[in-house]
Amino acid sequence: MARIKDEDIQLVRERVRIDEVVEQYVTLRNAGGGARKGLCPFHDEKSPSFNVRPAQGFYHCFGCGVGGDAIKFLMEIEGLTFAESVERLADKYGVQLRYEETGAPTGPRRDPGQRQRLLLAHKAAERFYAEQLMSSPEAAPGRRLVTDRGFDQAAAELFGMGWAPKSGQALVNHLRGKGFAEDELVIGGLARKSARGLFDAFQGRLMWPIKEISGEVIGFGARRMFDDDFMSGKYVNTSETPIYKKAQVLYGIDLARDPIRKQSQAVVVEGYTDVMACHQAGVLTAVATCGTAFGEGHARVLRRLMLDHDAFHGEVIFTFDGDEAGQKAAVKAFEGDEEFTGQTYVAVEGTGKDPCDLRLAEGDEAVRELIGSRIPLYRFVLDNTLERYDLDRGDQRIDAVREAVRLASAVRDTSKVDEFLREIATRAGVDIDLVHAEHRKAKDQKPSAPKLTRAGAAAPEPAPARPEASVFASFGAPQFAAEREALKALAQYPQVARTVAADLTDDDFVHPVAREIWRHMVARGLPDHADAGWLPAVADSLPGDDLRRVLGVAAVEPLHASEQTAVTVVPAVLAHLQELAISRQIGDVKSRLQRTDPTAPEYQEVFGQLVALEQRRRGIRDRALGAVGS
Ligand SMILES: [Zn+2]
Repeated sequence: MARIKDEDIQLVRERVRIDEVVEQYVTLRNAGGGARKGLCPFHDEKSPSFNVRPAQGFYHCFGCGVGGDAIKFLMEIEGLTFAESVERLADKYGVQLRYEETGAPTGPRRDPGQRQRLLLAHKAAERFYAEQLMSSPEAAPGRRLVTDRGFDQAAAELFGMGWAPKSGQALVNHLRGKGFAEDELVIGGLARKSARGLFDAFQGRLMWPIKEISGEVIGFGARRMFDDDFMSGKYVNTSETPIYKKAQVLYGIDLARDPIRKQSQAVVVEGYTDVMACHQAGVLTAVATCGTAFGEGHARVLRRLMLDHDAFHGEVIFTFDGDEAGQKAAVKAFEGDEEFTGQTYVAVEGTGKDPCDLRLAEGDEAVRELIGSRIPLYRFVLDNTLERYDLDRGDQRIDAVREAVRLASAVRDTSKVDEFLREIATRAGVDIDLVHAEHRKAKDQKPSAPKLTRAGAAAPEPAPARPEASVFASFGAPQFAAEREALKALAQYPQVARTVAADLTDDDFVHPVAREIWRHMVARGLPDHADAGWLPAVADSLPGDDLRRVLGVAAVEPLHASEQTAVTVVPAVLAHLQELAISRQIGDVKSRLQRTDPTAPEYQEVFGQLVALEQRRRGIRDRALGAVGS
């Protein structure tokens, strides 16, 4: 496996003008203080919250939270891998990339331009399959199935449906004729190698092209049509390839993209024909996962499209069938990402029909009604929870309420919690006060936010694991304003901060998020000159997107005292942070002094520490005032 040399990646970062890259997709206008602003390409918005800081090489959206450097931007907007994004930027900015062998057997060797070749091969395959379905006599069973499932020719064409011939080498021969190499067909998952040579990956099957958001074909879903099919699965999809990543592929996303954006709603169904049935019935936001459970990768794709901010959350509607597997999936989703849970709805068809069957039996209107009848996931789970208890018995009622209340504490939106608690009371037939009491109890038992230990104290250092989600929420609290300002100063003016920062220690940061980012900045070393590659490199070194997001905000949000020049503001901000840290130490020492016997020998020692700290604090304060006042 070859990888691009680090120095070359660094060189690309230094040469890239992030505003030029972004402007290919988004119109930017000057926003003052060296920042530029535009409408976010990753979420639907009317006023611009997408910020680009050319000097720092960073972008960040205050609406949806995305952010990063130019490499990340291209990855996100074009669906490229890291290496592909670097390659494209290197081309544009004239950087000659060098590759080194890693020796790690992490997959087939990627050559520059491979992705493009694989996409072209898939496009040619889609056309070939589609022609076969329209005209080949052998495809008659496929055409019949299309009709039987309630679709006309226009629908089949809209979704690019096709037919993979039975012969075994039809596609291979066709693509060879178009100049594609054997390796490309095998790596792309279109063909398989055997002792007898190359043969088509799919044979005698009805085909659905699977596209990415931009509309490019990246794989296929194939339905079994003949008993003698060498593959037994009724539905088989392209397996993982360099361009097909099943953890984030959503069938129909190319067609559903704009409706999902506009309506802030996505409908997740189970199969290709369900997606088609929904779209035919006017539910244009329908997508499906391809042979895998809906996961975090899929959620991210949808969230990027949906208008999603504090005041309004888009809806994701799952059409589970009422069976146990579907219920388990729902409960699992409930226990997962809290943020997502608040937006999740379930549409269950009473008789267990999927959207395609429902449309066949009762028509388009019934499909629209099914989606319209969605209920919040929490209510669906509540029903399933209460069903397990005998609510006629007092002890069981209490147990049921306890379990239901635990679910309530997982709901993030507080306005929904009250509604939920009322519903529990009504459904379980108990007094609302009892439910509230149980809810308070459950909340008290919840593990509190991770303790913020201070280095230097005797307390053991917390494991250097990534801070939890709740920690990120707490970083916005007013008491951490000084730390947020300090991060901004460091991220935006590292070369100015460098002189003062030599004095800063880990202890000056109380919040684990700020401290973690600070540590990574120090590990990287603050630059002694303006360097657009520095911040992206720090971001890269951070263990997790949440931390990167915080750094992204710090990189673009103006310093509160930004009317001053960086040369005066940055030292003042950092001095203020230090002053706070010393004040905390003074508090500790004072408390120790109170607990120490004045006649004991150590009293003088502690008193001496207090005096020294107060002197130090005065020194820092004077320096800060001097800097701001000048
Ligand atoms: Zn955004």
